[in-house]
Amino acid sequence: MTKVRLDETHDPARRSFVEAANQANTDFPIQNLPLGVFSTKSDPVPRIGVAIGDHVLDLKKASGATERLTQPVRDALQETSLNSLFALGRTRLRELRRIAGDMLDQGATGNQVRRHASDLLVSADECTLHLPTKVANYTDFYAGIYHARAAGALLTPENPLPPNYKWVPIAYHGRASSVQVGQGAVRRPLGQRPPAAPGTPPSFGPCERLDFELEMGFYLASGNNLGKPIPIAEASKEIAGFTLLNDWSARDVQRWEMFPLGPFLSKSFGTSVAPWVVMSDALAPFRVAALPRPEGDPRPLDYLFDGEDQVRGGLDVHLEVLLSTAQMRAANTPARRILTSNAKYLYWTPAQMVAHHTINGCNLQAGDLIGTGTISGPSPAELSSMLEFTSAGTKPVVLPNGEQRGFLLDGDEITFRGRCSRDGYVSIGFGSCTGRIAAAEIASLQKQVA
Ligand code: CA
Repeated sequence: MTKVRLDETHDPARRSFVEAANQANTDFPIQNLPLGVFSTKSDPVPRIGVAIGDHVLDLKKASGATERLTQPVRDALQETSLNSLFALGRTRLRELRRIAGDMLDQGATGNQVRRHASDLLVSADECTLHLPTKVANYTDFYAGIYHARAAGALLTPENPLPPNYKWVPIAYHGRASSVQVGQGAVRRPLGQRPPAAPGTPPSFGPCERLDFELEMGFYLASGNNLGKPIPIAEASKEIAGFTLLNDWSARDVQRWEMFPLGPFLSKSFGTSVAPWVVMSDALAPFRVAALPRPEGDPRPLDYLFDGEDQVRGGLDVHLEVLLSTAQMRAANTPARRILTSNAKYLYWTPAQMVAHHTINGCNLQAGDLIGTGTISGPSPAELSSMLEFTSAGTKPVVLPNGEQRGFLLDGDEITFRGRCSRDGYVSIGFGSCTGRIAAAEIASLQKQVA
């Protein structure tokens, strides 16, 4: 097993000249340096940046302030998405993160970035954040075993955990075109809802059981050629970085449509991601062992088994979900945390997902997005969708103002947060992934009826 790759970029003593980056509660200290794509009113062309405290370092401009970047990195930083940069691979991404850290270091002398900070650093408040990559392909796994069990018990009680679950990292191909950066509105979908009684027709209209799924997502670095699987031992090197991901789900539509080919319209209306990509290298101190398999569970097949991955292929990311309703916002009541979980509960590691995805020769491309599946934990407070948390709406969440929610109503806003902490290291966070439910587009529905 190789040792955890830690270097000066993880040094807890390091400080930035951006003061807000040195505060204990920030998601973006100098030890993090996540990448994203932003624009401003005065310069509306999207460009690549790195989050630091309450600011964003404009990497397109800053690339002119250093001699240290290689030409391929310099070229990739001129683009409006991270795909070309990710395609350069993890070694180049590691270099970029190191150089960005040096640019933002408090101690750096003769630092061009510090000298020209007013030009190169933009206040986060002034930034519009965009989808970090052009997502050509999006795949959603089902690797949260506590979710698979809890949701299975509600959706298919006769067979809560499929017999293949402990052998196959189950996934389906999601819809890439409707992936959006969480900050905007998510429109309640229209669709067919299950018949009220067997033998009767389905009803049609706005989804009545709108839900979220708390997941993490990750982006591919260089990827693989068609026909060339990525071996498990190489797989974690192919992951550029991680984000928070909300796989919005229309449960009524899903229940009616999903057999036998799986979810379709119940998922494809929208998937939200956080705007920042926390680089794999920033997460090095927060890797943990893969979820221990209970006695009697099968050992993963060889193509999914790697000693190093078993020892540190898991991720310790504390996750939380906040809910804010229209009524709460009108009364200036802060969003309510309704549940917490942790990425360490995934039954399959991200590397196993990559190895499995490519074992048939399927080619993953730079900037492709992969969702882990809903990450529920073993306790009732860690059930990470409304479906599970409210037992399919039968035990609603009661909010401090007396409002109740079985599923999401129009105006409800869901926010995900994620944070890594470990003794001896500076905590880093993922920013937030937010979406507010907008009413269904019923004008088209009324036109059809008329
Ligand atoms: Ca999902």
